Amino acid sequence: MTNYFKVNNPATGKLISEVRVNTLDEIQQALENGHDSFKKWSKVNAHERSRLLRKWSDKIQEQKEEIAEVMTLENGKPLSESLGEVDYATSYIDWYAEEAKRIYGRTIPAATETKRIIVSREPIGLVAAITPWNFPAAMMTRKAAPALAAGCTFIVKPAEDTPLTTIKLVELAHEVGIPKDAIQYVIGDGKEVGELFTSSEFVRKITFTGSTPVGKALIKNSADTVKHVTMELGGHAPLIIAEDADLDVVVNQTIISKFRNAGQTCVCANRIIVHENVIEEFSAKLAAEVMKLKVGNGLEKDTQIGPVINEKGYTKIVEQIQDAVDKGAEVLVGNEYDANKEKGYFFVYPTVLKNVNEDMKIMQEETFGPVAPLISFKEIEDAVEIANSTPYGLAAYFFTNDYKTGTYLHEHLQFGIVGWNDGAPSGAHVPFGGMKESGIGREGGLEGIEPYLETKYLSIGNL
Ligand code: ADP
Repeated sequence: MTNYFKVNNPATGKLISEVRVNTLDEIQQALENGHDSFKKWSKVNAHERSRLLRKWSDKIQEQKEEIAEVMTLENGKPLSESLGEVDYATSYIDWYAEEAKRIYGRTIPAATETKRIIVSREPIGLVAAITPWNFPAAMMTRKAAPALAAGCTFIVKPAEDTPLTTIKLVELAHEVGIPKDAIQYVIGDGKEVGELFTSSEFVRKITFTGSTPVGKALIKNSADTVKHVTMELGGHAPLIIAEDADLDVVVNQTIISKFRNAGQTCVCANRIIVHENVIEEFSAKLAAEVMKLKVGNGLEKDTQIGPVINEKGYTKIVEQIQDAVDKGAEVLVGNEYDANKEKGYFFVYPTVLKNVNEDMKIMQEETFGPVAPLISFKEIEDAVEIANSTPYGLAAYFFTNDYKTGTYLHEHLQFGIVGWNDGAPSGAHVPFGGMKESGIGREGGLEGIEPYLETKYLSIGNL
C-alpha cells in the first residue's frame, strides 16, 4: 500500500501537499545507489565539484521567492525569515564551493633518507543526513554542501512536517547537473529511516540535527558499523546580562535571539539571567517591546511571530509556562494562545516570565517556543553556575561592556557558541556546534568540511 505524509500549513491547519513515503526497499536501493555513485563523484575534479555547487546556489537564488513561500507554508515562519533562510542556506553552498578547492594534504619529513611520507585527505563515502523542521533549507545545505564539496555522496531524510523545501532543493541540484545519485532525498518515518541509515553497510557517516534523545539513539546504532557521526542536538541557551550592560542593546538582541522562528531554534536564548540591580528596568523594557511583536500567518506582511510547528510542540510550551506560573513565576506579557486542535493550528503569544527559579521545568528543559524566562543573579560566578547547570552546551550569550567580566564569562561558559553583545552569532563561516549533550562535531567554517574527510598517509620506502 502506498503511504503519504500529509503536509499541513501550521498557520491554518490546511493541507498543502501529500508526499509519498518511500518503501523500505526503495530506501535500501537509494543507499546502494548513493554508495555506487560515490565511486564516480569522488573522482570528479574538485574544481568541477566547486562549479556545480556554485550553479546549485545560483539556481536556488533564482527561485528564492518561490522557495521561501513553500518554507513559510510548511514551517509557518514569517516570509521575511524564510527569505533570510534561503540566503543562509546558499551561503553554506557558496562557502563549501570554495572549500572544495582547498582540501590540502601535507608531507612529513621521514625518519630516514630512504623514505618519503605524504598525507592526503579523501572523502569518507556515502553520508546519510537527518534534518529537522525548524530550518528545512539551511540544515540540509550545511550538511550537503561540505559533503559534496569533499567528494562524498549524500542522502537526506527531511523532517515529516517540512519535506517540501528539501525536495525542491534536491531537485534543483539535479537540474544544474549534480548527478541524481550523488544527492538524494528519501521520505519516511524518522525511526525507521534512522535504523536503515545506521545499520547500512553503505553509509559511512551519519549527520543529524535534532533532539538529544534521537541523537543518542543514532550514536548508539552507528556503533555496530563504526560510522562517523556529527550531531547537532538540543540547546538551552543562557543569556547573561551584567550590571553594566547597555540595556537597549540587550533588549534588541534578546528579541532577535529569543523570538526568531517563534523561539523554535536550538540556539534561542532560553534562560535570561539578569543582574539583580537591573532586572526591574530590563524586564520592563523587554516586556514593552515584546508586547509589540505581531503574531500571525507568516505569509501576511508584518508578521513577526508565526505559529508553533505542531500540537506536540505547543503542548510542551504551554506545560512549561503553566509549571512556571504554578511555582510562582509572574507573567509580564503573554501566556495567551490561539489554538485550534480540530483545525490543527497553534499560536503562542510571545511571553515574558519574571521571578523564575531553577526548579521550574522551563529552566531545565529546552523550550522551543516564544517564551523568555527571567531569573536574577548577584555575583557573576552565580550566573555562570546557572548557565552551566544543564546537560546542554550549544549557545550562550552575554552582555557587558566590561572586558574583565566578558573575559571571565568567555572562559567559564561551557558552550560551543558564545555571543558577546551579539544575539545572532551564526553564519556559514563559523564552526557551529555544541559541547556536552548538545553534540559532537562542528558545521560551517573551516571545521565543517573535516567530518567528511578521511586522512590517509603514504610511506614510500626503499628510495
Ligand atoms: P523534534 O522533536 O523537534 O521533531 P526530532 O529529533 O524528533 O526533533 O526530529 C528531528 C529529525 O529526526 C526529524 O527528521 C525526525 O523525523 C527524525 N527522527 C525522529 N525520531 C527519530 C529516530 N528515532 N531515529 C532517527 N531519526 C528520527
